[in-house]
Amino acid sequence: MLLFTPGPTPVPESVRQAMATPTLHHRTPEFEAIFKEARERLMNLLGMDECVMLASSGTGAMQACVLNLCKKRALTINAGKFGERFGKIVTAMGKELVELKYEWNTPVALDDVKRALEEDSDIDSLFIQISESAGGLRHPVEEIASYVKSINPNIMIIADGITAVGVEKIDISNIDALVAGSQKAFMLPPGLAMIGLSASAVETIGEGTDYYFNLASEIKKQRQNTTAYTAPTTLIIGLNAIFDEIDKEGIDVLYSKTEARAKATKSALEAIGFSIYPKTPALSMSTVFDEDAEPIRKLLKTKYGVNIAGGQDHLKGKIFRINQMGLIPVYESVWVVNAIEMVLSDLGRRVFDGTASQIFNKIYFNEIN
Ligand SMILES: *Cc1c(COP(=O)(O)O)cnc(C)c1O
Repeated sequence: MLLFTPGPTPVPESVRQAMATPTLHHRTPEFEAIFKEARERLMNLLGMDECVMLASSGTGAMQACVLNLCKKRALTINAGKFGERFGKIVTAMGKELVELKYEWNTPVALDDVKRALEEDSDIDSLFIQISESAGGLRHPVEEIASYVKSINPNIMIIADGITAVGVEKIDISNIDALVAGSQKAFMLPPGLAMIGLSASAVETIGEGTDYYFNLASEIKKQRQNTTAYTAPTTLIIGLNAIFDEIDKEGIDVLYSKTEARAKATKSALEAIGFSIYPKTPALSMSTVFDEDAEPIRKLLKTKYGVNIAGGQDHLKGKIFRINQMGLIPVYESVWVVNAIEMVLSDLGRRVFDGTASQIFNKIYFNEIN
């Protein structure tokens, strides 16, 4: 079965092997050397002034950012499940919330952010997804972040890059915290969250708040290549192994292949009559709006060995999402669009003629060469 859900993503064989080694004690020079290497490589990928790794799912890192970077009132962008989650965390942590809400296919509008900030000078932080996975939507984070910083550089910009880091090169010039998670573009098992931090975020954190998610104590420890509490040693070993895999061709090749795959998939799906759901699609996944989303997913799984994701909440049964994150062999992606075309034929919607794989190949290999 091909796992083509936008998280979790398949773990490469070499990485699984690396993680099958005997458990190391985390307070040893051996593990500190591994941690140091992972930290340097992560810092290099994120391109930020500081970073921390946390033993938690991605949501833990989102909560750590709310706890440590929002002092009073947060502005959140809710155009899907994960934007909505930022709002719920803010409220649960006892902070004040201003939320901009959109349909799940619609990116945040700069004018709305402008108005929100003009009307409310107590907003000290902005929380936004780069890629909102609920609808496969790409928010214009760079534009928003640059505007917010131009009017008030003290407002902290927290970007959830869980389905963006490792997918595309992110312009971090106006970002204070960049969140990533192991089970999406990092192709690792779930359980490791990562946050890149700007120098001004480190300053804002000060002594930190919270106990487990106190970012000040993590920064202090992690600068010494250790962690405040027991490190997820196996996942950090896996992180180095993932970087080894990525470095075989280089991160830029990964970015360009991901982009080519996303473009080729989009065109292939459109060529066989599908409509892409988000107005501004993210590269991390291909999202289609279709009333037959559930029968399509079911046939893909039972007849063609492909597992893709559906939608949640009001989009349940209305969309399907195909992963583009990670080191995906191109022959698998070709099979996915071909299988979808075969499903349309099974459903009596369209006569199979090989259009999807043909368009995919044409676009992908033009992009890559
Ligand atoms: C998956 C995801 C999360 C949540 O991560 P968990 O590891 O499930 O806690 C947050 N934001 C985005 C954009 C995601 O795709």
